[in-house]
Amino acid sequence: MKKIFISAVFLVIAFLTIRSNINIIDKREKIDIPEKECYREICGTVEQGETLYDIFTKYKLDFEELLKLKEASADVHRLREIYPGQPYKIIIDDSSHINGFMYWIDDDNILHITRTESGFCAEKKTIEYEKKILHIGGIIKDNLISSMREGRENLMLALQLSDIFAWDIDFTTDLRKRDEFKIIVEGFYLDGEFKKYGDILSVEFINNGATYHAYRFKHNGEVDYYDAEGKSLKRAFLKAPLSFRRISSYFSYRRFHPILKISRPHHGLDYAAPQGTPVSAVGDGTVIFSGYKGQYGKIIIVRHPNNWRTYYGHLSRIEKNIKKGSKIKQGRIIGYVGSTGLATGPHLHYELRVKNKPINPLSVKVPRGRTVPQKLLAEFRDFKNKMDSQLVSITSPVFACVEKSKDNKL
Ligand SMILES: [Zn+2]
Repeated sequence: MKKIFISAVFLVIAFLTIRSNINIIDKREKIDIPEKECYREICGTVEQGETLYDIFTKYKLDFEELLKLKEASADVHRLREIYPGQPYKIIIDDSSHINGFMYWIDDDNILHITRTESGFCAEKKTIEYEKKILHIGGIIKDNLISSMREGRENLMLALQLSDIFAWDIDFTTDLRKRDEFKIIVEGFYLDGEFKKYGDILSVEFINNGATYHAYRFKHNGEVDYYDAEGKSLKRAFLKAPLSFRRISSYFSYRRFHPILKISRPHHGLDYAAPQGTPVSAVGDGTVIFSGYKGQYGKIIIVRHPNNWRTYYGHLSRIEKNIKKGSKIKQGRIIGYVGSTGLATGPHLHYELRVKNKPINPLSVKVPRGRTVPQKLLAEFRDFKNKMDSQLVSITSPVFACVEKSKDNKL
């Protein structure tokens, strides 16, 4: 009996160890610049509501020099625009005179102000990251975000993944426990430390027994994701009117955002979702009705090419400017989930009609968009084969850095 208990404990520990293999990635930096010994550095991060004036007050620095810094940088980056969470560095000499000032404008740019003989000189410098190609593998536990580990960057990766498959997989209702993903993605590093993800180059996603592939390919200056046959993953209709990205941002990136329930009691689909959840148009089209309509409550009806129509009912609110005749693009927010009309609780009633006949949106086959042009197919296949051989090598769950790219600048 004791033996069984010990093995069980061991198994749990082993499982937890494997699960935590995907790296936890943290923010931000400190770029060290060469300095002379007689200089001192003040390093900090802008706090909520803090101005440069406050920072100068805090460190008892000369306000005249602040004015000179502002003047010098006026054409490069206005010093009034400093934002909470962004790092800065002030280099001062023995008598507290400013010798240099650095401010991290965003993930890609730093403002550098240096003292020269003729006064301060400002320039914007691009942060030169080292680019690596990362292999990530994972298994779905409950939802996509919680299966991606903690941190802003992993959340961004999850959203990028959900965007790539938005025409095939509804990440709020389609995921199953033990679904698997393998991702090849660019990672940007500074001084050997991970800073952020770049573009996803390729993905293999096993969802409910079906395998989906995505390969990033650029032609005619346009980037798109293609399947193994070289067909764009884009389709005329999104898989669902409740976009995973929209929902995730609406619920302020909460780790466990609501898992939506879908049911099919009648002509359409019902998505049980919290009141106020944003509703997106599944395809390009023209609004033909927007307002109150009996049991549907507040509803928007959109006409799409080939006499297809989509219905979004029981809305709590219709987005401004969504009126009869409005032209809308795929993915645009048109309204918000509610329980107007004949509804017992907040849910979206979603209906798809072809020539006014309701059909099941989940079983309809919507053709894919464009394909890789014939003359580029060989190039696409080379890239695909290279990605495939890397995908095969990923044994999930794992986080590993494997390939150092030749071009290591942004
Ligand atoms: Zn319904």
